[in-house]
Amino acid sequence: MKTGFLALLMTAAAAWAQPEAGVQPYLSSPRRALTAPELRDAPDEWIERSLAWAGDILVRYAPAVIEHPVRRAALIRLDDVLHIESAPKKPLVQRFYRSRIERAVREIENTRAEGGMWIWKLYNHGFFIRTPSVSFAFDIVPGTREPGFAVDPAVLERIAEQADAMFISHAHGDHASQEAARLFLGRNKPVLAPEGLWSGQEIAARLTYPRRSTSAVQEIPVQDGRRVLKVVAFPGHQGSAPINNVHLVTTPDNFTVVQTGDQSGTEGPDGDFDWIAHVGAGRRVDVLLPNCWTNNIGRVARGVNPQLIITGHENEMGHSVDHREDYTQTYNHLFGIRYPFIVMAWGESYHYDVAADPGRRRQDTVH
Ligand SMILES: [Zn+2]
Ligand SMILES: [Zn+2]
Repeated sequence: MKTGFLALLMTAAAAWAQPEAGVQPYLSSPRRALTAPELRDAPDEWIERSLAWAGDILVRYAPAVIEHPVRRAALIRLDDVLHIESAPKKPLVQRFYRSRIERAVREIENTRAEGGMWIWKLYNHGFFIRTPSVSFAFDIVPGTREPGFAVDPAVLERIAEQADAMFISHAHGDHASQEAARLFLGRNKPVLAPEGLWSGQEIAARLTYPRRSTSAVQEIPVQDGRRVLKVVAFPGHQGSAPINNVHLVTTPDNFTVVQTGDQSGTEGPDGDFDWIAHVGAGRRVDVLLPNCWTNNIGRVARGVNPQLIITGHENEMGHSVDHREDYTQTYNHLFGIRYPFIVMAWGESYHYDVAADPGRRRQDTVH
């Protein structure tokens, strides 16, 4: 039991570290203390002009490790718009979302990776990866449950058409979509998923459940057996449940990517951090794609030891405002981290090519 004085001291320290909701009139949740307060609503004129401007800035100033500062201004403006409580229901926001994903799909269809690796950020923790030899995707979902906040089924079909395989980290609807999975399976493209996903349903028999292991390298044939993806499905968790596979995927041309899903296991003894600490041991990981809100992102990064971090899961619009996790918070979480990182909006892409740009090497980059 804490002594009265110690308890008082700890309360004072906590209050200093984090302004309290209710005490600070601008604060809706302590989680949002370090990001500008959200509006309950805003005029369509402001929303429309903001989205148009931010979209143009993102086209003009592409994602980069050393990014132009106006990108951050654009991402913060997107945070402002996307943190209006009713934003998921607003047609202007829905149209912006759909156009960002459609734009990415057009780009995927028109991009051949001749060197290096292309990474597209989709929704929500969804990524599309293309190297000279293969293409694959993580956690593809159409959008939220809000009908207007989902891409057209034809757009999902085009993603499945372009990819050779899909990885699903865990069962939650912002990561796992039967609609997307069926489009891949229908094209004879493997869908890897955590054990038991959709069990008892017809689709379960068609999924591939990799063995959850910190060392087993599993070979997944793609392109009708012409190529092989090497996969480690680390046995992660979101809290104490559900199970969450942290997939490490190595391509035939030797690029390695780790996508974490909603990894947020315990930090104590015998917790997931015991194996997270060794993910990068004896392996060269090129790109880590973590959930932006994972607990202790610095510890995750050090364990995986990647050449580059590209976060996902910002502005998950199925959540209420306090858990939408804005881009601003991602910059705050990554501040001071000893790894290069890039914060990307929906639909943006990055061409990862260490040989072509030494600025992307860890040792040359300071944040
Ligand atoms: Zn989840
Ligand atoms: Zn999630």
